[in-house]
Order: sequence, then structure tokens, then C-alpha cells
Amino acid sequence: MFIIALLRALASLAALLCLARASALAESALAAPGAARLRDICLNALGERTGAVVVMDARTGDVLAAVPEDWSRRPMPPGSVAKIVTAYAGLSGGRITSTTRFHCSNALTVGGKVRHCTVPGGHGSLDLDQAIAQSCNVWFYQAARRIGTERILKAWRDFGVTGVEKRVDSPERLAVGEQGVRVSCLEMATLVRRVVTQRKRDRSMELVARGMRGAVTSGTAKELAGLGLSVAGKTGSPSQASDADRRHGWFAGFAPYDNPEICIAVFCLEGNSYRSAVPVAAEVLKGYFGARAR
Ligand SMILES: [Zn+2]
Repeated sequence: MFIIALLRALASLAALLCLARASALAESALAAPGAARLRDICLNALGERTGAVVVMDARTGDVLAAVPEDWSRRPMPPGSVAKIVTAYAGLSGGRITSTTRFHCSNALTVGGKVRHCTVPGGHGSLDLDQAIAQSCNVWFYQAARRIGTERILKAWRDFGVTGVEKRVDSPERLAVGEQGVRVSCLEMATLVRRVVTQRKRDRSMELVARGMRGAVTSGTAKELAGLGLSVAGKTGSPSQASDADRRHGWFAGFAPYDNPEICIAVFCLEGNSYRSAVPVAAEVLKGYFGARAR
């Protein structure tokens, strides 16, 4: 009898603890972290990595966190994040549509040099959504030839990026962020916010946003699909001029997809591709959204 009573008492204590925890979670879900805590969340997410994290209020454009300050202002090559600007240039200029398809058989000659895509056998035939989600270089090389250098450079300037060169010799390399443009983390967050604020009235921008959502649901940023939040974003892994095998990592995105609260940009120096930036973004999103993320 005594043991049964003890077990009952323990069970009700456990239930009480569960209730207390649930109400604490509900409370944290209501409040976004304050500036100091968000800064700590971002710095902890970066950890030992050299790089930067910027979090911006999607509605007001206020910078909620930009750490560390020097790195968040340093212009770096955007790598494949550039594909969202290339896609916008093509869509808004009427050179491509959401149903434009190109074939990727892994390799394409660009400027006399054979360049490869990430998938050994190639991505096959892709439309725009799939090309953004899978970050297919060969698709974007072919799109770039149709869109043209001037249109892509203009789109970069329209997105508010200052580090845009006047002339670029390869539209293909410009299209995938290997040449012609350097972007700071702060500018990258601003660029994402432009997607977020203009998508309602600009069909081309809505298609770009949709492509970014696809990168999370079925593409290169899939790791963020398990957070219990509807995140959208684009990865990038620009190689260094001095050593093509050493790559930086980028992630630029926003959440939640339908009613965005924050835009986020993460850059990791020599981050061995986006594999660094995506996990950092995951930590920041979990920290910001608290119990609303898993
Ligand atoms: Zn490909």
C-alpha cells in the first residue's frame, strides 16, 4: 500500500513539473529575445568560427543583431546566394520564367574551361524552383547567357549592394557569385528583406521567395526543415581566390515563410562550404523562436 501511495505521489509531482515546464515554454514563445540575449545567441552559434551573423526585423528593417561588427560589414564574394539575384534579373527582365528548363549533365565549358556541378551525373532537366533548391551551377550558367551581364549587375545594384563591379567578363561566373560582386553580411540581410517586402506586389520576387523555400524543404538547406518553423533561404560556398578547395560558407534567409518576422545572414570564413553557415543559422533560429522551434 505504501509503495502504491508513494508511486501516486511521484506521478502527481511529475505531472506538476510537466505543467510548469509547459507554461514556461508558452511564455518564452510569446517574447522574442532582447538585443543583448540575441547577440549572445548569435555569438554562441558562431562559436570558434570566424565570420558574422546578422539578424534583421523583417517588418521594420531594424538590425536586431550584427556580430561581430567588423566582420558583419566586410564585403565577401556571395557564391551561390547570388543565384537569387540572377533569378530575379532573369524573371523581371522577361528572359526566363518559372517554367524555363535547362539540362545539367554535370559539366559545361565556360570561358574555355570545363566547369562542374556538384552532382556527379548532373542534375538532369530542372525548372527554376529546382535550380534554386539544388543550387545547380550548370542551369545558372545557361540562364546567365540568356539574361546577360548588364541585367544581372543592375539587379545587384537595385538590391542595394554597393560592391558591384562596372564590368564583368563572364556572365556565367557573375550568375553564380564567383565574380563581379562582393556583399557584406549586413547587405545580405538587407537583400533578403527586399525579397520579403516586395514579394506581395512583385511576381518575380515571389518566385524568388518560393525558390528559397524550396532550398529548405528539398534542397541544399534541408537541415533547417526539421526546426518546426517554415524557413526559406539560400546557401552559398564561394571558393577562395588563393585555393579553390577551401570554401567559405553563406546562408541568407527568412522565417516564417508566410509572415516573416526576421531575415538572417550568416557568413563563415573558410567554413568548408555552407555546412558551417546552415548549422549556425539553425542555432540562431532556435534561439530566436524559442519554443516555436524544435
Ligand atoms: Zn547541376
